[in-house]
Parts: sequence; structure tokens; C-alpha cells
Amino acid sequence: MIILIDLDGTLTDTAHEKFKPFKDGKQQTVLSDIPLIQGAKEFIADIQVKGHKPIIISDSHPDYVNLIAKEIFKIPAVSLTDKPNIERTANYIQSNQDLKDLFANKDNFIMVGDSWLDIELGRRLNITTVLTKFYVATSIEERDGIGQELKPIKIGATYYAKTFEAVSQIISNPKKSLLALEAIFQGETSDSMVRFITRYSNGNFIAFRCLARQEDGECDRFARADKYYQIDNPARSQEFISKLAQSITKYLERVEKYPQYKWDYLTYVSDKKTTTPPNKMKEIFELVNSSFNKIKLFEWSEDVEGSLRNQPNYQTRRDFISKYLKTIEGIDLENKSIIVIDDQFTSSATAQEIAQQLRNRGAKNILFIALFYLILPIESKVCPKCGKILKIKIKKIDGTKFYSCLLPKYRGDGCGYTENMTNQ
Ligand SMILES: [Zn+2]
Repeated sequence: MIILIDLDGTLTDTAHEKFKPFKDGKQQTVLSDIPLIQGAKEFIADIQVKGHKPIIISDSHPDYVNLIAKEIFKIPAVSLTDKPNIERTANYIQSNQDLKDLFANKDNFIMVGDSWLDIELGRRLNITTVLTKFYVATSIEERDGIGQELKPIKIGATYYAKTFEAVSQIISNPKKSLLALEAIFQGETSDSMVRFITRYSNGNFIAFRCLARQEDGECDRFARADKYYQIDNPARSQEFISKLAQSITKYLERVEKYPQYKWDYLTYVSDKKTTTPPNKMKEIFELVNSSFNKIKLFEWSEDVEGSLRNQPNYQTRRDFISKYLKTIEGIDLENKSIIVIDDQFTSSATAQEIAQQLRNRGAKNILFIALFYLILPIESKVCPKCGKILKIKIKKIDGTKFYSCLLPKYRGDGCGYTENMTNQ
């Protein structure tokens, strides 16, 4: 595998601004002044022994990057890459026949880095990505956004790693390391998830976890917006539903391995009577195989009007849930810990509102599991007719993707041009 790997903050512990003159090439780099992330040299040596080929991909100056690449790691490097723009990196790949041949199958490449810029670059190249967190950011870096809570998660990396060992494991077994729901559709099983948000208060916690990415635009081929849309398809197959349930089952097995958290109830966000297909979530929930106590806890009001999806913003979404979705009376939730399953996590309004209702009833810990979460949109293909950026859309009927220059009636500003996507 070709391992494209970021330098500053990933291999070298050089996020601090005092290294800026080196990185900008304004001062001669003194190698002995460059601190390495612990284990970086061993990691690079180890993956090469296993037959992989690491290449440094860095925004920094060639004087700095090439010196470190050559003297410390003894591997090739691309400098001044201007992430997340792909031109420099793509040109480097195209200019080397071996790399070019390997790039015909995107599974041969992976991008490893500690910033959302690295992940966006990887998504634009349609290769898998690992977001690393080898050090604790002390302050929010303006441009890289390191230390910000949600941006690095919403950018939608394929994988997360806190140690080089974890990166090595991903490289050795990429499909088994996918998020639980993404793995299932590759014929593998995994109990990985995205730690979306964890909030602690008074010794209790609320945790939001997601089992697959719902991509918008460019991404690696493992994200599953197509499957998300299939949930709503009245003709969805039993096999499809059971795969969704299996991924939840797999993750719950992991939850059960932590006996210090005693989960009292396993529940789901109920379907409205008007939902299509009827019992959209209930059918999935019933197929989940778990020793947790399954229960129905939520109910929509009889007078529910309109739909959550048509609410314009976070507050109106929350108001909608608050008004129409009720926690069923008569079940003692005092001091109970509850797992809630839902299909999608977007603005988090549903999850936050439900968590609030459960807390109001005295609930203790709450674990909210969403099958999918919407990652940030990344578009890069330009309309050949009018020059606007094309959007990647999905035909709801069969999940196939196509480019569209969105007309104003679809909330775009384009000319209506469409093009089928190759390489699905
Ligand atoms: Zn156009």
C-alpha cells in the first residue's frame, strides 16, 4: 500500500509556532531541533518492512521537508502541497509510472494526517484516510483547526488512530478496520464507530456514536450515503435491513464489554404512522441481537403535522421533536441508563432533544447510536457547460450517484447539466 503521510504533527511534533521559520524555509532547519512524535521512525521502518511505501505529503517548504524526509526517515516527500488542493499530490502520482498504475485502484492508497486538511485532501483523491491524534493540542490553531471539537469529525475520515500501532493495524487490515456499518457492506465485521460527542455532567454522561459516514460529494468508496437513502425505500430488502441490524449488534457487543456501565434499556427513535416504509426503524430494531432489555420508549403525538426533514434549522428541528415526540409515561427512568438507536445524525437536534427528555425523567447515562452521520460536503468537479461546481447527487430509487449542475428549483445556481459517475 502507498501511505501518503503528513509531516508536521503526524511524524514530527512541530505544530508549535516556534517551528514556523523552519517550515516556511526562512531559517535553515537544524535537524537536532526537530522533535519527532514518539515511535515515528520505528513506524516508518516497520511499514516498509511489511512492503508498504510511505511518502511524506507536506505543506511546508522543500528545504525543511526534504531534509527531514531524507535524513531522518529516508523516504520520498512532496512539499508545498497546498492541502486540501490535490494538484501537487496528484501530479506527483501521475509523474511516477508505478504510482500511476497503482492509483488505478484507489484501495492501494491511504492518507494519514492529524488535520482536517489531510482528510479533505484524501477525500478529494477518493482514497481512504486516517485522522491521527498523537498529541494533545494546547490551543486552537487557526488554519488547521486542530483542537476544534467537531470539524475534524465532520470532515469524515475513514479511520481514527491515537497511536502508530493503531495506524499499522489499519494498514494491515483496512476492511476489518472500517466503521461497523461500512464494514458489513464489505463482507467484514467490525465494532468501530465514530466518537461524535461525549458530554459529562455530575458524574453522568451522554455519548453520541455513529456507525457509518453519509458522504456528500467526493469521498472514498466506503462511505454509504447510498445505503442511507435505501432505508427510506419501500422496496428495501430484508437482507439490507438485517445488515444494518448486524452492524448495531456488533457495536453493542463492544458496549457490553464494559460492565462498569450498566445499561438498563435499549430503545430506538420510533416511527411516525405516516413514515415510509412503515416501521422503518422498528424493523431494524427488532433484528438487533442483544442481551440488553429492549423496550419502546418514544411515541409520536397523534396530531403530528409536517416532517422533521422540512424544518429549516436546528432550533425548529428541536421544537418539532419537543412538540411531537414524547417519552412514554409510566416507565420508571429514574437513575436508568439508556441506549437509543436512530437512523441518522445531522444537526443532532433529535438526539439532543431526546437526551433532554430522558434527563428530565431522571435518566443517568445515555448512549445515542446513529447508523449514519452526514459528513461535510466536498465538491470539486466543474460543470463543462457553465463552470459552476457540480454536486454529487444520489438517485433515491437505486442509490446510484451522478453529477448535477443544480437548477435553482433544487436550491442550486446551476444550468441543469447532469453526468453519470464512473468508478462507483
Ligand atoms: Zn452548469
